[in-house]
Amino acid sequence: MNPHIISKLPNVGTTIFTIMSSLASAHNAINLGQGFPDYSMDDELIQLVTKAMQQGHNQYAHMSGVPVLRQRISDKVQELYAASINPENEITITPGGTYAIYTALATILQKNDEVIVFEPAYDSYIPNIEANGAIAVPVSLHYPDYKINWQSVRQAITAKTKAIIINSPHNPTGKILNEEDINQLNEIVKGTGIFIISDEVYEHLIFDGKKHLSILKYPHLYKRSFVCFSFGKVYHCTGWKIGYCIAPHDLMHEFRKIHQYNCFSCHTPAQYALADFLLHKSAYLQLGETMQKKRDYFFNGMQHTKFKALPSHGSYFQLYSYQNISDEAEIDFAKRLVTEFGVAAIPVSAFYKIPVDNKVVRFCFAKKEDTLQKAIDRLQLI
Ligand code: GLN
Repeated sequence: MNPHIISKLPNVGTTIFTIMSSLASAHNAINLGQGFPDYSMDDELIQLVTKAMQQGHNQYAHMSGVPVLRQRISDKVQELYAASINPENEITITPGGTYAIYTALATILQKNDEVIVFEPAYDSYIPNIEANGAIAVPVSLHYPDYKINWQSVRQAITAKTKAIIINSPHNPTGKILNEEDINQLNEIVKGTGIFIISDEVYEHLIFDGKKHLSILKYPHLYKRSFVCFSFGKVYHCTGWKIGYCIAPHDLMHEFRKIHQYNCFSCHTPAQYALADFLLHKSAYLQLGETMQKKRDYFFNGMQHTKFKALPSHGSYFQLYSYQNISDEAEIDFAKRLVTEFGVAAIPVSAFYKIPVDNKVVRFCFAKKEDTLQKAIDRLQLI
C-alpha cells in the first residue's frame, strides 16, 4: 500500500496571487495583481546587508531575532504608539508577516475552536485556521463601504470563539479601522477569553491624513493580542520575507515554542541591516505620502476608463468596480483582463470562503508611474 495523505486543506488550490502572477508572466502582462513593488528598494539598505555579511554575521541568529533589531523595534513602537514593549520577551522576528499570523494561530488554536475573520479576508487566514483543526467563522464586511457590522460580530460569537483576526489597513479593500471600531472590539472581547490577531503589515501605508490605530496603543486590547508586522511592506523588499510579531510575554512564550521548532531563526545579515536602517525614521514616516501619490496617480488615470474606484485609505491596493463594463464573474473577468488587455488584477471573490461576486477587482498601485500609466492606457481600451 502506498502512503496516502488525508489533506488538511481539501478545498484549497494554488493561491490566487501565484495564479495571476503566472498568468501575467505567460501573457507578458502588466502585473497589478500580486502586491509587490516594481521599483527598487533603498540602495543603502542593500549595502547594509552586504556589510553585515562582510562583518561575519552569517551564522544562525538568536531564535527570537537579533537583539539589536528587537531593541530598535521596541524603540520605534514606543515612539509611534506609546507602547512599552520588552524586546527580550515580547518581540519575535519571523520570516514574514504571514508566518507570524500562522504561528499565532498555531499557538492558540485547539481542535474545533472558532476564529472570526472579516471577509473579504487576506487569503491565508482561513487555510491557516483550518490547517490547525479549527473553524473559520466569516463575517462579511458591508459592500461597498466594507464597514464592520459589529452587531454581526456579536452574533457570530459562541462559547468556542477563540480569536478575532483584524487587519488595518485592510487587504484587499484599503479600509482602515477607526476609534469607534476599536471601542466596539473592546466591548465585545472585554471579560472573555478571546484573543486578537492584528495584521498590521500596512501600518505605514496610510493616506489622507488618517492615523494608524495600532492595537499596541491600547493596553487593554494588547494584553490579549498578537500584533503582526512586515519589513517587506515598509522597505519595498517583499522577497526578503522578514517580519515580526509583538505579543505580551506570556503569549509570546508559547508563540516561541512553536516558532523555535519551525523556522527557528531568520536570515541574520538582513536583521543587522534592518536594525541599522530603522534609525532613518524618515524612510518609514514618509511612506504614506509616497504611496498616496501612487494611489492618486492611478486613480486620476482610471477616471478615463469605465472602472469605478471604491475608496482606499491605506495599503498597496484599491478596489475598482467593473459593473459598467461586464457582468462576467470576477475570476473570468480578471483572466480576460490579462489575456485580452494585458493587465493583471486580483478578483475580490478570491478573498471569500464562499465566493461573493460584487464585480470588483483589486489593483496594486505600488508600482512605478510608468507602469501605472501603461496599465491605464490598456484599461482605457475596455
Ligand atoms: N500580500 C500580497 C498580496 O496581497 C501577496 C502575498 C502572496 O503572494 N502570498 O498581494
